[in-house]
Amino acid sequence: MLDAIAEVREELHALHRSLVDNALVSWTSGNVSARVAPDLMLIKPSGVPYDELRPEDLVLCDLSGAAVAGTLRPSSDAASHGYVYRALPEVHGVVHTHSAYATAWAAHGEPIPCVLTAMADEFGGEIPVGPLAPIGGDAIGRGIVETLHGHRSPAVLMRNHGVFAIGDSPRAAVKAAVMCEDVARTVHLARQLGESVALAPQTVDALHARYRNDYGQEEA
Ligand SMILES: [Zn+2]
Repeated sequence: MLDAIAEVREELHALHRSLVDNALVSWTSGNVSARVAPDLMLIKPSGVPYDELRPEDLVLCDLSGAAVAGTLRPSSDAASHGYVYRALPEVHGVVHTHSAYATAWAAHGEPIPCVLTAMADEFGGEIPVGPLAPIGGDAIGRGIVETLHGHRSPAVLMRNHGVFAIGDSPRAAVKAAVMCEDVARTVHLARQLGESVALAPQTVDALHARYRNDYGQEEA
């Protein structure tokens, strides 16, 4: 168990680096968590800059967001990450960023419409907007779960705040956060040219199914 958690620490540390490498975070904002047991998660400590973050600094928490080991305080979003893990047993990774283009859509309070094949692939439709929720408790987590219910999107734009993305692994959640920013930027640029052309729902369904089932390499 401890060896397995040590391995996840290394992976989660690398994923925090990839938020920086993909220009999704500034200073100390943003965080990634990983479920390491049915009722335990690792998450970024509060207020630690990315260039100072070490694998051993990631805080082991229960799903109420309380630290169960170490001396560092977990991210102020820990209770919300924990709420998501409690509500959605299939989720093993949660990411939060204030990435610029996606957060601009969140400030605008408008879902990103599904007008790109890449969006149909990854999100299976629009990227929805969740409520403005207070930071610190689990209200953001409740907003994430309620908003994503009935959507295929693994990402949600929390109004006036930023992006939360979920996945069956922390890497999948980071991928969704990266793709969310990518499509937020492209759809924003498309808007500068005028009206975008919507994809028909059956086209979105077909693209999403193909991407889920046929894209990439066969698993060995
Ligand atoms: Zn935030």
